[in-house]
Amino acid sequence: MVQKQHCDVIVIGGGSAAFESAVAVRQNGAGNVVMLEKAPVEQSGGNARFSHTGFRFVNTGHTEIRDFIPDVPQDLYDTMQMPAYTRDDLVDDLNRVTQGRIDQTLAAHMADKSNEALHWMLECGIKWAPEKTHLIDGKRYFEPGMYLHPKGGGPGQLRMWTEIAKSMGIDIRYRSKVVQLLGDYRRIEGVRVITPDAEYELMARSVIVCSGGFQANPEMRARYLGNNTDFVKVRGNRHNTGEVLRMMLDLGAKAAGHWQGAHMSPIDAGAPAVETPVAADGTGNQMNRYDYQLGITVNSQGVRFFDEGEASHAYTYAKTGRAILAQPGGVAYQIYDRKGIDMFHFNNNGAATFVEANTLEELARKIGVNPVVFADTVTKYNAAVVGDKPFNKGILDGRGTRGLEINKTNWANKIDEAPYQAFPVTCGITFTFGGVQINTNSQVLNTEGEPIRGMYASGDVVGLFFHNYPSCTGQTRNVVFSLAAGRHAGTAN
Ligand SMILES: Cc1cc2nc3c(=O)[nH]c(=O)nc-3n(C[C@H](O)[C@H](O)[C@H](O)COP(=O)(O)OP(=O)(O)OC[C@H]3O[C@@H](n4cnc5c(N)ncnc54)[C@H](O)[C@@H]3O)c2cc1C
Repeated sequence: MVQKQHCDVIVIGGGSAAFESAVAVRQNGAGNVVMLEKAPVEQSGGNARFSHTGFRFVNTGHTEIRDFIPDVPQDLYDTMQMPAYTRDDLVDDLNRVTQGRIDQTLAAHMADKSNEALHWMLECGIKWAPEKTHLIDGKRYFEPGMYLHPKGGGPGQLRMWTEIAKSMGIDIRYRSKVVQLLGDYRRIEGVRVITPDAEYELMARSVIVCSGGFQANPEMRARYLGNNTDFVKVRGNRHNTGEVLRMMLDLGAKAAGHWQGAHMSPIDAGAPAVETPVAADGTGNQMNRYDYQLGITVNSQGVRFFDEGEASHAYTYAKTGRAILAQPGGVAYQIYDRKGIDMFHFNNNGAATFVEANTLEELARKIGVNPVVFADTVTKYNAAVVGDKPFNKGILDGRGTRGLEINKTNWANKIDEAPYQAFPVTCGITFTFGGVQINTNSQVLNTEGEPIRGMYASGDVVGLFFHNYPSCTGQTRNVVFSLAAGRHAGTAN
């Protein structure tokens, strides 16, 4: 007979949403909290292990942010430009990139609670560092609302949460795979767990599901996302294979978010198939290729196919991977001249794959693109650059092209100064947008719209985003909804 164990609250997963839920529910009165992480300890931590985990949150700017990073020297701090990022800014960003499809109640809740949630992390003992900046005329500019990431990036965040969780007596069980949810569409009662040497049922009054998306499951990618997404490279953790999400739907949870959508960004075409490496200090994934605003991108036929200057990378990168996947062979080439190379912001953080040449013709030959077509693309692009506005990477400078089938809206400089570089890129999937419906207490709703008693969810397993994603809102969503789940599950019975 299968052994039966009991605890107060189960948290499924070992990523950032799981740690935040476990700590919050413990703080709110749950005595015995068990985290079930499928991965062995050395592979644990979900997607945060592969990220610097920047946070975009509502804040009043420069003075308030100082509380998070007191050890930055004052003269450096004084150069940092950190205007307030308001509730309306976050709601507008969420609505614009999701084309208005995001659940309005959940978006408003995220905006209302993000500031409190970040301060809660600070109080819990998470230490912070400033985000990457653009240095222009002695001033340091950030992307809007994105001023902070945990010290040591995602790996640092996980280390700190693990220490905090252990100090609170939270029972973290690695190599513990949830294979069944026990209950029905009205109430959850526990889970069935398989470890390398045991199988048992763990019963609890609440289960908080933080098992991530299905991006590391090629069969589910092909089924839901279509369009050859079974080929794409997985930027994050190999263990995000979606089985718990599937179990929730089978139990009667309501589906939400964009089931044919995912966060897909441009990454080095030479990246490994799964788990792209992070910088040694945890401050960024080495395979990101996000400087495309500084040049042009062409497909393997030598033709441009999207507006590289539509907006800053923060609002475009998560949909650009999909655009590359739709090109012949699912590859493209980011093309820069010396002016672009000198301004690289992201591309210099890793051992990137690229080729260099002193002429555009030689560059085209090196990447195997027809030089005549490539020359035509660059010539027409250069001729279309309208030079009436000064180039300024710190703002939407409006320096665009005119008259092309696909114009570049901002940051258009001619590609005309050697050396030239070409970076082969492909589509890297980060996380999937389809998940379950929750309410503002993070309770999972069933297909009748009622909360499934005892079942909560946070993180990528929640269906929230559509089409695109404003950068650094995944982590904010995690902490907002994990805190809500912890507060409600801690006191509910
Ligand atoms: C390269 C990269 C860079 C990113 N950069 C940022 C950024 O800067 N800012 C930002 O906001 N977001 C960023 N993200 C996205 C963000 O990291 C994720 O959205 C977030 O980490 C998801 O957290 P999660 O806890 O929901 O899921 P995950 O962190 O993916 O954790 C899911 C956990 O569930 C476990 N699990 C799965 N199935 C089972 C099972 N059957 N039984 C038990 N356990 C199971 C997994 O092992 C894993 O531990 C990035 C992601 C990647 C990959």
